[in-house]
Amino acid sequence: MPNPRATPRFAGIATLCRFPRLADVAREHQPVDWALYGVPFDSGVTYRPGARFAPRAIRAESQYVKPYHVEHNLMLTDILSLADAGDSPTAPYDLEANVTRVAEFAASLGDPRSTRLLAVGGDHSIALANIRATHARHGGKRPLALIHFDSHLDTTDRTFDHGYSHASPFIRAIEEGLIDPRMMLSVGIKGPLNTPRDLDYAREHGVTIVTREDLLGSGPARIDAFMKRLAERAAYLTFDIDVIDPAFAPGTGTPSVGGLSSTEAFGLLRRLATRNGPPNIVGADVVEVLPDRDPQGITSLLAGHIIMEVLCLDALRRLRK
Ligand code: MN
Ligand code: MN
Repeated sequence: MPNPRATPRFAGIATLCRFPRLADVAREHQPVDWALYGVPFDSGVTYRPGARFAPRAIRAESQYVKPYHVEHNLMLTDILSLADAGDSPTAPYDLEANVTRVAEFAASLGDPRSTRLLAVGGDHSIALANIRATHARHGGKRPLALIHFDSHLDTTDRTFDHGYSHASPFIRAIEEGLIDPRMMLSVGIKGPLNTPRDLDYAREHGVTIVTREDLLGSGPARIDAFMKRLAERAAYLTFDIDVIDPAFAPGTGTPSVGGLSSTEAFGLLRRLATRNGPPNIVGADVVEVLPDRDPQGITSLLAGHIIMEVLCLDALRRLRK
């Protein structure tokens, strides 16, 4: 990250959080710990399109993300080598082919043994691609655990007769053996839903569902219990910005009223690290930002800060080791 007191934040080519471009990372900082990349793709939406413009918007707004985390007391960029790898190629007319294409691009980034992958969507269908690439690198023979922030479960089998939309990434990831549903935590789920059966798949497969309403009562303790069970197991973190209330994150395609505030979301992300020790996050994504519905870029700015919080979980873990 360039020193903002020498190189202003408003100058130069915008990269995610001002991290260097992957091609510009100095030799002594290779291989990078995390490669971040954009996925400008929104063919998988069930409602309002436009998330394909999010990687650019998040790059622009995340110029104002700063590297020192006050609550964790850590300097992110002193602990992790981080880079923006640019945007993945996509297949805008073919949902299933898009997953393959994005996963192939992700697999090409950094060192396949060590570099972790953070995808910036795009709609939530792209999570399946980054989960595939992450599992190939860090999963071994075991499915990954999943920490999922969302208003929606995204375990619908088919929508409009398609199985790879933004409503389906986790049912596919479970079927492919990439995610263990008994080690899947979905936080912030809320209604109204299309049908009561929308909850069935997750419930029948042992997913830990902490609804928005639960967070006002036993939810935080249930998250702590999940994290204790998770311990050191490799986990993927997926953050759908629509878990945040539209008042704080209006720029999203399937807004869900009554969500978390930005502050609550930061508190929950920090809590993942502080109650049982930091989790082993081996891959992540931040998805579903829709810049055309985003006055003043506030949702993109929030997405930049969510990226920072997620990376700090890994930084904190390395710091404690
Ligand atoms: Mn959602
Ligand atoms: Mn989602």
